[in-house]
Amino acid sequence: MPVFDHADFDQHESLQFVQDPKSGLKAIIAIHSTALGPAAGGCRHWQYATDADALTDALRLSRGMTYKNAVAGLEFGGGKAVILADDAAPKSPELFHAFGRAVEDLGGKYITAEDVGCSVEDMRQVNEVTGYVSGLPRSGGDAGGDPSPLTALGVFLGIEAAVESSLGIDSLQGIRVAVQGVGHVGLHLCRLLHEAGAILTVSDVNRDNLQLTRDELPVTEIAPADLLYADVDVLAPCALGNILTSQTIPKLKASIVAGAANNQLATEADGARLADRDILYAPDYVINAGGIINVAREYYGGSSEEQVRTEIDGIPERLKLIFDEAKTSKQPTNIIADELARRIVASAAG
Ligand code: NAD
Repeated sequence: MPVFDHADFDQHESLQFVQDPKSGLKAIIAIHSTALGPAAGGCRHWQYATDADALTDALRLSRGMTYKNAVAGLEFGGGKAVILADDAAPKSPELFHAFGRAVEDLGGKYITAEDVGCSVEDMRQVNEVTGYVSGLPRSGGDAGGDPSPLTALGVFLGIEAAVESSLGIDSLQGIRVAVQGVGHVGLHLCRLLHEAGAILTVSDVNRDNLQLTRDELPVTEIAPADLLYADVDVLAPCALGNILTSQTIPKLKASIVAGAANNQLATEADGARLADRDILYAPDYVINAGGIINVAREYYGGSSEEQVRTEIDGIPERLKLIFDEAKTSKQPTNIIADELARRIVASAAG
């Protein structure tokens, strides 16, 4: 398994391969950059087909965190952890303690939080052995806790901005949105979209999550294999990455792609493929930064949830700047965003 020659290795500062036979923990902690501060990014608990897939995910997600934190104006670099889920070693306090000890060993270079497959309770267990963790249960109106409702809020505001920019409409009333994945972020997003009058089509491979959504909201269910190609105005990917490819993009019917999932583009060139089809793409790490803003304000302390919500208002503003620049420069939005992120990191690195 190549590491330094890996296609997604991009000057990462460090990679830790962690194993704890007692709890069954197998994890990779990738630190992409600490130029702007400690590398922050969630911990994913996921069953990967191969170890190589887990490495690819850690490399891509950690670089995405560098870009996300830079563009959001946070005092954080980029990192990410993936725990290789294994039926023989299910989630347990021991497993998260072992993971927490590995985070502690990094001495504050990496700060973890929840991502796909991890909960606030998992992070509470991590917190029993290390302070380098955020997304913990919170009290009163302080910033913190489960970041997903705040991620959903940023995505919702970003969808409004994209609809205005692409369709020239300043309301979501009657706008048709397909949401892929109704987990932590997707369900919150559906609630906000429904309140705003959007018409929802959803899919999920998890029947329980789908049922929860159907019990609460008027949604049309569509098979997971058909969701990307639904006849809608907005496609909101809120499941996993690598879904926008040379195979899927030609078949999309939506004129906007704006959702929470990380690494939606399989490759950089897929941003141009979307632009060539006049599909407006909201760069994933710009639109989904609400959660990490919440994580950052919890970690550094002294902020209220209200202040976090005000900071999240910056997400649609940043997207509008990117959309406008893409129009005038005729460059894809992902390239505009990547260049902006690299400029911010380079100026901090000196
Ligand atoms: P989650 O695990 O709670 O939800 C994901 C949902 O997608 C699950 O219900 C899962 O069953 C479903 N899913 C998986 N594959 C699918 C498929 N092929 N078709 C349809 N549904 C599918 O995760 P989450 O916390 O809601 O995060 C969703 C995405 O947003 C992830 O990519 C995550 O990295 C990203 N993200 C999350 C946050 C956050 O605050 N949680 C912040 C930024 C980015």
